[in-house]
Amino acid sequence: MALIVQKYGGTSVGSVERIKNVAKRVAKARAEGHDVVVVVSAMSGETNRLVALAQEIQEIPDPREFDVILSTGEQVTIGLLAMALKSIGVEAKSYTGWQVALKTDNAHTKARIEDIDDAKMRADLQDGKVVIVAGFQGVSGNGDITTLGRGGSDTSAVALAAALKADECQIYTDVDGVYTTDPRVVPEARRMETVTFDEMLELASLGSKVLQIRSVEFAGKYKVRLRVLSSLTEGGDGTLITFEEDPNMERAIVSGIAFDKNQARINVRGVPDKPGIAYQILGTVADANIEVDMIIQNVGTEGTTDFSFTVPRNDYKKALEVLQALQHTIGAQEVSGDDTVCKVSIVGLGMRSHVGVASKMFRALAADSINIQMISTSEIKVSVLIDEKYMELATRVLHKEFGLDAAK
Ligand code: ADP
Ligand code: ASP
Ligand code: MG
Repeated sequence: MALIVQKYGGTSVGSVERIKNVAKRVAKARAEGHDVVVVVSAMSGETNRLVALAQEIQEIPDPREFDVILSTGEQVTIGLLAMALKSIGVEAKSYTGWQVALKTDNAHTKARIEDIDDAKMRADLQDGKVVIVAGFQGVSGNGDITTLGRGGSDTSAVALAAALKADECQIYTDVDGVYTTDPRVVPEARRMETVTFDEMLELASLGSKVLQIRSVEFAGKYKVRLRVLSSLTEGGDGTLITFEEDPNMERAIVSGIAFDKNQARINVRGVPDKPGIAYQILGTVADANIEVDMIIQNVGTEGTTDFSFTVPRNDYKKALEVLQALQHTIGAQEVSGDDTVCKVSIVGLGMRSHVGVASKMFRALAADSINIQMISTSEIKVSVLIDEKYMELATRVLHKEFGLDAAK
């Protein structure tokens, strides 16, 4: 008998029929003798609907109230799933994030989990009940509802698995595992039996939304056995995230490709080139709770310098606002930006032992006349910022270039 955390994403609970199917899967795990904690997302499209509703009233919604609204989607699915389970004779009980309680910091819309109280869940499991927890939400120290960022139910599931020391955390979604790239963009993409934790961390952080980045971080920190599976098909082992590299395995140079449209570029031109200027600009952005990713500074002529950096697209307007307010103080000639850019990245542990991977990437993009605006590299990834209209083309070109297309 094992303790399993199962997470079902939006498509997997997208209709009453699908929720009934989820109930059957949970019932099967119970019948096999396992204790089961289920984390569910909102029904597909629901969170987007709630975002749009809020934005009809405020273009940049009040963060506290935004979370009050966004968290409602998951509350519906926990109740529906609990009823579906009870109606097939499986005892179950649903909990919202605050009821558990899943405690977070105060960073509304991107809160971080700080602590999980497992007492109620343990008592229910002891009583033979299936515990159902609303994903994506928690409660802050002052009792406000928080949400964990889009795709955050993955993180709820892995964090619960860590807190409960579960034997496995199973992420059920609408694809049957982690692929070499998004199979919706590249039909030739292949499912990986296993993917190393380091590669998964890069893929997730670079935009591959099959797992939210923080869920992978949690899995690494607490060594949670994490598997991605399909809720729409029967059987299959999905993809297991592994923590140890198999030294005998011949590694592909590039294992996967990620792309991310949630990107915007900001340019701050013609600021005095003096110590502290980078801090003044980037510190102001950080104080607005906006994450900065790629950064380029070019020293110009006449004692000035130019900065370009990327921020998440949904923070673009806010970042422009805070920098335009600062423009006079720092003496910048221009604050501008572009929110029609995207980032495409190649990832692979095999890069460590191969030179020329980046130049191969740039050559392939150039051959298709794709212009590169920014570049960033690490030991196991190379990312480029390009015009978003080339995102799919760039992904397909690179998937082929690095030999990832499935044999036909
Ligand atoms: P859920 O609602 O179950 O959380 P998501 O839409 O968040 O599902 O994540 C699953 C989707 O992630 C897939 O439908 C697929 O389009 C996309 N995806 C992106 N990159 C990958 C990848 N490398 N492997 C598998 N799926 C990927
Ligand atoms: N419902 C939330 C979202 O759409 C959380 C999740 O699905 O993981 O982002
Ligand atoms: Mg998701």
